[in-house]
Amino acid sequence: MTYYRLTLLVLFSLLILHYSLPSVLDQLKKYFGFDSFRPLQREIVEAVMAGSDVFALMPTGAGKSLCYQLPAVLLPGVTIVISPLIALMKDQVDSLNAAGIPATFLNSSLDGRQMHMRMQGLEHGDFKLLYLAPERFPVPGFLEFLDSLNVSLCVVDEAHCISEWGHDFREDYRNLRILRERFPSAPIMAVTATATERVVADILDQLSLRDTKIFRASFDRKNLTYQVWPKRSAMAQLEGYLERQKGESGIIYCLSRDSTERMAASLKLRGHKALPYHAGLERGVRTRTQELFDHDKVDIICATIAFGMGIDKPNIRYVIHYDIPKNIPAYYQETGRAGRDGLPSDCILFYAPGDRTKYLQFFDEKPPEERVRAIHELDKMVDLAEIATCRRTALLAYFGERYQQSNCGSCDNCLSNEDAETFDGTRLAQMFLSCTVRVDQKFGVSHIVDVLKGSRGQKIDDFRHHQLSTYGIGSEYTKAEWKHYANEFRRQGLIFQDHDHFSVVKVTPKGWEVLRQKRSVTLTRPKTVEHETREAIDLPAPYRELFDHLRELRRRIAEQQNVPPYVIFNDYTLKEIAGRVPVDGPEFLAISGVGETKAKQYGMEFLRLTRTFRKEHPELTRMTEIRHAPREPKGGDSAYETLAFFRKGHGPKQIAELRGLAASTISSHLASFIQSGQIGSLEGLVEQKKLAPIRAAFERLGYATLSDVKNYLGDEYSYEDLRYVRAFNERTA
Ligand code: ADP
Ligand code: MG
Repeated sequence: MTYYRLTLLVLFSLLILHYSLPSVLDQLKKYFGFDSFRPLQREIVEAVMAGSDVFALMPTGAGKSLCYQLPAVLLPGVTIVISPLIALMKDQVDSLNAAGIPATFLNSSLDGRQMHMRMQGLEHGDFKLLYLAPERFPVPGFLEFLDSLNVSLCVVDEAHCISEWGHDFREDYRNLRILRERFPSAPIMAVTATATERVVADILDQLSLRDTKIFRASFDRKNLTYQVWPKRSAMAQLEGYLERQKGESGIIYCLSRDSTERMAASLKLRGHKALPYHAGLERGVRTRTQELFDHDKVDIICATIAFGMGIDKPNIRYVIHYDIPKNIPAYYQETGRAGRDGLPSDCILFYAPGDRTKYLQFFDEKPPEERVRAIHELDKMVDLAEIATCRRTALLAYFGERYQQSNCGSCDNCLSNEDAETFDGTRLAQMFLSCTVRVDQKFGVSHIVDVLKGSRGQKIDDFRHHQLSTYGIGSEYTKAEWKHYANEFRRQGLIFQDHDHFSVVKVTPKGWEVLRQKRSVTLTRPKTVEHETREAIDLPAPYRELFDHLRELRRRIAEQQNVPPYVIFNDYTLKEIAGRVPVDGPEFLAISGVGETKAKQYGMEFLRLTRTFRKEHPELTRMTEIRHAPREPKGGDSAYETLAFFRKGHGPKQIAELRGLAASTISSHLASFIQSGQIGSLEGLVEQKKLAPIRAAFERLGYATLSDVKNYLGDEYSYEDLRYVRAFNERTA
């Protein structure tokens, strides 16, 4: 009996112990501020914690660092991280320190005294992570020093550098064999974003990994859009694009050193902050350039492929290939540097069929066998640039991965209008052309579309364009549709975009014929609704303003501390703060990317801004849903049919009956038009007397779910009521 009781007691206390131990998830939030793991992170952390050797192949931006940084925090001693680039170590260590994790590095950038201090600290067990470059190992006495540390885990980052078969082979990585010999009881973890089967085998062998747990993540980078643009008046196209991206970070890859210099100079002339980067520049200049880019002080780097590994900057919004890369792995790697923070980012390749020939001469010096292989690989890249089917599917197929969806929704081919139906678009063209004339042929496509759609905004007010007869006549089409048709007008020669002058639209003689009823126009309907410009920070206007203030504050703090701004918070987190508008400590801590140390350290300053914002905008509720991923292509036509019924005076219930669709479908259509401003008031949708209580409830409950808000308000309020009010509060117009 007593034995039985004892067992119960032990079980019971084990149970309590189990639940009182902070979970891995708690630790993730505490130190890194994240609420959930990305794919495979949890599995990898658990494998390491269980003492297994681990090999992880995950694409750039998948979050490999966290896979060893979290175990490093949880394990008793110190974790050694081997990383090839000295330039990166400081940023990584700064980031960890900002999160309250004691970390340090030892490399040749330190003077004797600094080195000594850090080594002493390490011997005292003051640090959880130690970053090292592999060239440290042969330094006399260094191994003996490492012996004196309590090493619980060894990590080899960019592990493909170990293999001669990989493309970044580093002689020094051969030294890493000694990790296993020196620290036989510490598990070893090797991570990389690029490795063929041969390279994987080589890594496992070289590091003497045993019973290795091997993890492979999908190589699909969901937040990247792949596009190929014809290389015609490429510079003009490029400038138009960069104009829209002003202030965001990006890389433009060029084939030659010369062209990077010319490109940077030409962009500078046009008011961009751009610098060149290639292997011909002095080391000091290169380091400085990278630092300026990292600290958001230069926006655009025009580079050869020498600008590569070690770009850890999370907010690169676009990677442009001005020339075709030499093969698909290179293309994948280079584009992969965009959007590490998970926000939508563009990969644009300028392609001219003639580029292939230009390339071939580079291969001439290679031995014949290699030359053939190189051309073969180049041709696969050319195919990728020329196919008319999904580029994402083809890209993943190259790496042996099957993409499951038929339309990825974020490559140019999936978004385009090929084999779409045609219709008589004369009236539509006339609307656009006459609006172009009404604004004196002095504005770009976006503004003309704003006028056609009857949007509100500063620029419209300033030029009194809301008084034009064409104001609002095209509101039945979305902005994206209008932009699509504008492209068609250009292709058909009805308009001309003057890229030397801010891309203003002019009507061509052919266009005038259309205006004078002397010519008709056939248009193709877009197959799917295109993404409006894929803005990474697509927040409704007032929240966007708050975002800009937050960004400015972040810049100031980063400057004071001499760290890159993303070390404080990345753009994803900043966007969450701007949309959710936390006003107290707990709310701030609930934001993704805010851990305990950062909350303490920066909370006051950031909350000051959010509180002021709330005072200035008492009418706004917080956003309940912040879009980080690209929009799904919507069922455009059906939604517009709903809108047409609504404009004829039918209520949502009636529309659902008339159209034979579910009430929830109709209400989601209407909500999206409310949000886009095409339905300008809630009249006829929500009873007047309900408005104030619903707003108050949103206000009170913050960013709770709709069902929370509904429970709070009671049964007389429907989900539709709440959805409409929420859409109204979040409207973008
Ligand atoms: P990799 O080394 O795989 O290219 P990083 O380790 O540099 O990627 O991580 C990329 C970005 O993802 C970083 O900005 C990091 O803060 C973020 N990140 C990592 N794990 C998570 C997570 N679980 N939730 C949200 N963001 C994460
Ligand atoms: Mg990494």
